[in-house]
Parts: sequence; structure tokens; C-alpha cells
Amino acid sequence: MNKQVSEESQNLNQKDSNDFKFEDLLEVNDPNLKILGKGSYGEVKLYKHAETNILYAVKIISKDFIRKHSSISIILREIRVHKELKHPNIIQLIKYFEDSEKVYIVLEYASKGSLFRIIRGQKGLDESKAWHYFSQTCLGMKYLHDNEIIHRDLKPENIIIDKNNQVKICDFGWCVQSNEVRTTFCGTMDYMAPEMLLGEGHSFQVDLWALGILLYELLHGYAPFRAVKDAEKRQQILNNELSFATGTSSLAKDLIQRLIKTNPKDRINLNKILAHPWIAKFAITHDLEKGCLLKHPQFDIGEIIDVTGLVCKVKFRDLTAMIAIPDALDMEYIEEQPRVSVSEIENEVFGRLEKWCKTPVVSRKKLQDIHIPKLDLSSLSPEKIIRKRKGSIEFFEEIVERSTYHKENGEARSPEKGHPEKRKQEHAVNKPSAKIDHFGGIFENNEYEVLQKKRLNKAKKFESRIKGNFRLPGENLKRNVYTEESTNFQNVFDVTSKIDISEEALESKVAQLNGYRRTLEASNRDRVIKKKDTSFWGSLFGCLDR
Ligand code: AMP
Repeated sequence: MNKQVSEESQNLNQKDSNDFKFEDLLEVNDPNLKILGKGSYGEVKLYKHAETNILYAVKIISKDFIRKHSSISIILREIRVHKELKHPNIIQLIKYFEDSEKVYIVLEYASKGSLFRIIRGQKGLDESKAWHYFSQTCLGMKYLHDNEIIHRDLKPENIIIDKNNQVKICDFGWCVQSNEVRTTFCGTMDYMAPEMLLGEGHSFQVDLWALGILLYELLHGYAPFRAVKDAEKRQQILNNELSFATGTSSLAKDLIQRLIKTNPKDRINLNKILAHPWIAKFAITHDLEKGCLLKHPQFDIGEIIDVTGLVCKVKFRDLTAMIAIPDALDMEYIEEQPRVSVSEIENEVFGRLEKWCKTPVVSRKKLQDIHIPKLDLSSLSPEKIIRKRKGSIEFFEEIVERSTYHKENGEARSPEKGHPEKRKQEHAVNKPSAKIDHFGGIFENNEYEVLQKKRLNKAKKFESRIKGNFRLPGENLKRNVYTEESTNFQNVFDVTSKIDISEEALESKVAQLNGYRRTLEASNRDRVIKKKDTSFWGSLFGCLDR
């Protein structure tokens, strides 16, 4: 290589921290492999590292070409944007070099060539195979759009496939990093969106249109607007003359139609594409589900609040983000599912209290001997709390009812003294006008109604008393409240009042819980586990190897 290095290249090379030199790479001489692709700019050739034998694809661009087409800024922009991109579905830019004649962009090598080559001559792929290429392309595109990059030239020639059958989006020559509306006319006619053709200004939605065309082509073997002459094709695009081959599934059609929309604003975005039922139809099962906690490298800990298709909605402290499933699976996550919720503990407490109530006073244990389980807030799932709340309140009322029964009717009428069914029968014979409640209590005249009313009031009173006592981790239930022996049920509620089951309190509980989650420290981090080694796509698509 010529050692004469321009000022521009010095700038580029200074920023590059990679340590191998271009001289360390050897051109592969196999005539079948030597040239991987050709473009008007030059060629993409296969090289290998002399020591490691790692293969690289090197895009070689002649400076003459750059000068003639006044495209220095375009090449620099391509390199600048591309070198920052790191995603399994984006071809990795490893290094870049130049000499006086050429620019060399060293890329990771994708041995199966372009998607164009794979689908060429086929009458369309079956849907699961099309899904494989399309969904990965969408994941790569989501990464670009999340980073405010518009590709602007998405087509099968720019989607290459590596040895693991993994999709790699390449060619960032036309990409722009901005969310401003652009006016440069670029791309390839077959994949060009109407707003680009009309020069009306375009943005991210041109890529969404191209994705619609891509899915159509994957399933049909040809792009939807097929006129031979450009002027006619242009008209077909502007008229949105879309027709499907028989046998195209209605879900696939629906997805394509949601993308090939004349008005860019009507096209669904990548998050919606990844959650579309056609994508969900072929998506594999995975461990991620609602309630899982993820540790995002940037946003810290968040909770999955929805999972659909290949995307999940995650709530972080300051924002809610849509995260692609493979990316989420790559994050550290808290593997253990919440084991118990507050409500479960409530139920447990009530269960024990209920048992205590049923025990005749003489043989009752001291209240302090009733073990109250410890609250473990790190294992809470707000969803579970909401779901179980109703059950808890009912349980609560039942306890109140029973306690009232014991208190007001004494041991003699306790259900434990004689089988209720037997007593009911006896009573029915002796006093046909009396009522029997479900604990076996017998009531004359309006006694029963009066008692029921009292029970209800009491239940309500207790319910209103137990507001606002939610406790954060570390503050266990105060057991000393009931160290004195007592048959007064009120005391039991003094204890249980530390657990709040009112609606507002539950809401604030959930809010506090979310706040707490954000500050999960050492204790939870112990349980944070690293992802397994196998890559998502590797394990998923190994079986699809052609
Ligand atoms: P490009 O100019 O980036 O669109 O590349 C032109 C063609 O070269 C592509 O369609 C591929 O067939 C091939 N190609 C480009 N980059 C690579 C790569 N990293 N690995 C293998 N083939 C590549």
C-alpha cells in the first residue's frame, strides 16, 4: 500500500483504535471467493488475517471514483455512522484504511452472500423461512431507527447472510443519522417509497415501505411493482397497485398492507411490526414474561409489562421502552420469578389467624406464638397484588365474621363443639323458626340480621383502619404489638393492620415497589445472573441451516 497518507485519512486513523494493520491481511486467491460483490465504486474482496486466519470482506473504493462523484463526504459519513453500529443483524465494520488510490473498509465476512442471491430464481420462500430473514432484518432496522439512522437503500442485495444463517444488513452508503425530513433522491426503484419518488421529503418511513416490499418479495420471489419501464413502475408505486399471489396468508398480507401505505404516516413502525401477529406466529418460546426484571445497560432495571411477538415493553424509572426480544435475552435479568406477593402473605397471615379463631379459648395459643411470615418485597409482582386483593378482603371479612361469632356467642356455640351439620338437624326439629349461620350459630327472630349487620360494619371498620401502613423491605411486621396474651380480636388486627389491602394503598404499594425496584442494590444483584452463552439466533436458527 502506498504510504502517502492524506490529512483526511490521518484523522480517520487517529480515531481508530484497532490494532491490526492492513499489511496483516492477505487477499484470498480462490477464484470463486475472491470477489464477493461489485459496485460502481469498486469491489468487495475476501481477505484473511495472516496470523489468525480470520476472514474479512474488504470493500475497496477507488479515490478516483470518490473524486469524480464528489462523494468524499458520503464515504466519510458511511464510515463514521457504520463504525459505531454494533448489532447482531448489522454487518460489523472492523477497520478502515486508505492509501493514495483507494479506501479499504474491512467488514466482518458473511459467507452465504446476499439475500438477493438466495431468493433469486425461487418462486418465493415458505412463510417460516421468509419470517427468518424478515424478522432479523426488522431487528437490525429497529436498532438503526432507535439510533435515529435511516438506511434508505434497504433491498435484498444489501442484506447478507453469514455462516450461521444470520441476517446482516450492509451498505450504509445512503444512510443518514437524523430525524429531520430529507430530500436527497436515493435508493433503488423497486424499493422506493412514493414520497421519495415525488421528492416530497422523506424520513424513517421510507425504510418501512422498503420492509413491506422486502416481505412481499421474500414470499413471492419478485417485488410487487413489476413494470419493465421505470416510468410505468413509478406510476404503479404511486397508485399503490398491490396484488397478492393466491396462497399468501391473510396475516402476511395484513402486515405487507400496513407497510406499503402511500401516506408514510400510515405505515406501522418497527415496534408494531415486531409485535404483529404474523411475526408472533413464528416467534419461538423464551423465558421472558410479564413481571421479569431486566437490567438494561443504559436504563438500569426495568420490569417487562408486555411481551408480544419479538418485542417486549419494559418499564424503566423514567421511560417505557420497546425492547427486541433477542436484545432483552442478552441483558442480565433476574431469573427468579417473584415467589410470593404481599397478598399471599396476607392470605397466610389470615389463614393462621383463622385457625386461631377456631381454636377454643381455653386451648388457644398465645397470639404471639402465631408466626407471621416475613415480608420479602423483592419478590413482589404488582400484578399479583392486584389479582389477589379481592380474595384477601373476602378472607379478611370472613375472619372478622368468625371472630365476632366467637366473641358474641361464646364457646358454647362454637362450631368446634359438636358437628354443625348435626346441630342444624337437631335444631331444625326443635325450633323451626330459628336461623343457622354457616358456622353453625343458631339465631332466633331478627338476631341473625342484627349480627350480620354488626359483622359487616366491623369488617368495614377494620378495612378502613388498615390504610397506609405499607412497609418497605427490612421493616418486618411488628410482632411486639401482640406480645400480651389476648383473646381480643382487635389486637390481631393491630398486627394485621401493618398489611394494607385498600385499593389506594395497593396503588401506592405498586408505586413504591417500582421505586424500590429501581434502586435494587446488592441483595438483588446477587440474584442477577448472566445470560447463557448460546446466542439467541444461533440457538434458534442453527436448525434452519441450508
Ligand atoms: P455493498 O456495496 O456493500 O452493497 O456490497 C455489494 C455486495 O458485496 C453485496 O451484495 C454482497 O454480495 C457482497 N458483500 C458486501 N459486504 C459483504 C460482507 N461483509 N461479506 C460478504 N459479502 C459481502
